[in-house]
Amino acid sequence: MKPVIGITADVEINDKYFLNSEYVRAIIRAGGLPLIVPVGIEKDVDQLIGILDGLLLSGGNDINPMLFNEEPHAYLGEVSPSRDSIELELARRMLKTGKPILGICRGLQVLNVAVGGSVYQDLHKQNEGPILQHMQKAPNTHSSHYVQVEKGSLLETLAGSERIQVNSYHHQSLKVVPPVFAVTGVANDGIIEAIEGTDQQFVLGVQWHPELLSVKGDAASLRIFEGFIRACAN
Ligand code: MN
Repeated sequence: MKPVIGITADVEINDKYFLNSEYVRAIIRAGGLPLIVPVGIEKDVDQLIGILDGLLLSGGNDINPMLFNEEPHAYLGEVSPSRDSIELELARRMLKTGKPILGICRGLQVLNVAVGGSVYQDLHKQNEGPILQHMQKAPNTHSSHYVQVEKGSLLETLAGSERIQVNSYHHQSLKVVPPVFAVTGVANDGIIEAIEGTDQQFVLGVQWHPELLSVKGDAASLRIFEGFIRACAN
């Protein structure tokens, strides 16, 4: 039996669901059976989690800053309240089950907010000093900046290196990360690019898009998905 992987999706675009097909393809390629999760099913989350072997929190719009006790900064982008609601519920419940979670881009931020962390609503406006271009203008399969990876971390095990090259499509980034997570990937400007769990549960959040890099066969990206699916199969 293949592990069943719930993938969250965006729903605020003209009342239509939206999910980049590369998330689905990356899960299939790594040996999982993807299941796209809708919004509005908070009351049935326990039943859903009973079916899931793992959760992939996908990329998307900004998180409502009220959820980490801030009011909207002038440069806050679009928010998706119904998506915030189902994803935070799923993330919190899944963290309790011990089942694997992979958070990508917005998904990393959802994981952090789910445990009481916060986000820079606009990383360029809210950080001093020289900051790299994190909303790259290059094609989305191009790796535009480096990430320094913590030695001995899950990410280092998967990526096979203490320095990886990633794509970058975010204007928000993690601010306060609660001690339940460890920061295991940082860009050269200090922007947090990866967090992971500190116990046996496979919990990994990355700020970049390995599902897009895996299209061109990027080894570290493929191993992130393979490692996630392997954990989900246990
Ligand atoms: Mn970045």
